[in-house]
Amino acid sequence: MPIIREIVTHEPATRLATVSAVTRPVPCMVRVTFSGSELVGFPSGGPTDHVKLYFADPSVEGPTNRTVTRDYTAREFRNVDDGTGFGSTPELDIDFVIHEEDSSSGPASAWASAAAPGDQLRISGPGKSKLAPTGVSRVILIADESALPAVTRWLRLLAPEIQVTALLEVADAGVTPYFDAESLAARASVTWLYRTDRATREAPGQVEAALRALGPIGGDVYVFAAGEAGLLIPLRRYLRRELGLPADQVAVNGYWKRGDELFDHHAPLDATDPD
Ligand SMILES: Cc1cc2nc3c(=O)[nH]c(=O)nc-3n(C[C@H](O)[C@H](O)[C@H](O)COP(=O)(O)OP(=O)(O)OC[C@H]3O[C@@H](n4cnc5c(N)ncnc54)[C@H](O)[C@@H]3O)c2cc1C
Repeated sequence: MPIIREIVTHEPATRLATVSAVTRPVPCMVRVTFSGSELVGFPSGGPTDHVKLYFADPSVEGPTNRTVTRDYTAREFRNVDDGTGFGSTPELDIDFVIHEEDSSSGPASAWASAAAPGDQLRISGPGKSKLAPTGVSRVILIADESALPAVTRWLRLLAPEIQVTALLEVADAGVTPYFDAESLAARASVTWLYRTDRATREAPGQVEAALRALGPIGGDVYVFAAGEAGLLIPLRRYLRRELGLPADQVAVNGYWKRGDELFDHHAPLDATDPD
């Protein structure tokens, strides 16, 4: 059976949303809950649904209307009973990684570090939902912190009979409580890899080694990998060139690039080998 990810397009929409809560699921992540009437009807159908968030352009000194955008996964959208028995309030959670080197680096990370109830942000999209694949018996998820919200969506949206294997590379064990350990273990076979280990063991390819250790990847397995673009290139080469997996079986998405604030995730990940 072919592997298909159906695409559902949505009406273009830019919404003004108000922060209603701010929490820290783990020290390196800020979860901002947005609400407001403009979120009514927010579409939420695919595991990688994402939005553009608008921030004041940091290159302009002082207050400005000039904006820059950054992409973020719509971790969870829900309609919460408003207690009147008649209506509900829309809520959208977005999880922001606070960059480990410098919490003020980057307008999105800096905004999230200081976010408080009552703050407002413009949110556009998602323009489309690429639905979970059909025709698969197993999905392999590879992610760093920036893609843990997407992993959350994958785990929620994949049919229960689909086997899930996750290779998650994060700074250290302090990130693992991002998921409830019991429900994660019940749904997926997970390997946590720590960058601290990579530094001490001089093993820059620990994710690639873990992926290779999974053995052959059959025609009914889908692979999603997202995170720092440079670290994903060898994974893509292994999957697409060494194993020869077709493009519709593999999604390798650079979510950010070290040292590059203008990173375009639509550009080919590997300039020497575009699709
Ligand atoms: C489809 C998609 C979905 C995404 N979903 C999420 C999400 O749900 N949560 C999330 O946190 N990110 C997510 N990202 C990644 C996010 O868009 C980038 O990390 C973005 O660059 C952050 O913007 P910024 O303004 O904080 O930093 P920028 O101004 O873009 O960059 C400033 C500096 O910070 C570095 N940097 C950027 N991101 C990180 C990082 N994660 N860790 C360490 N250093 C970094 C850059 O290399 C640069 O040197 C997603 C990206 C895509 C394409």
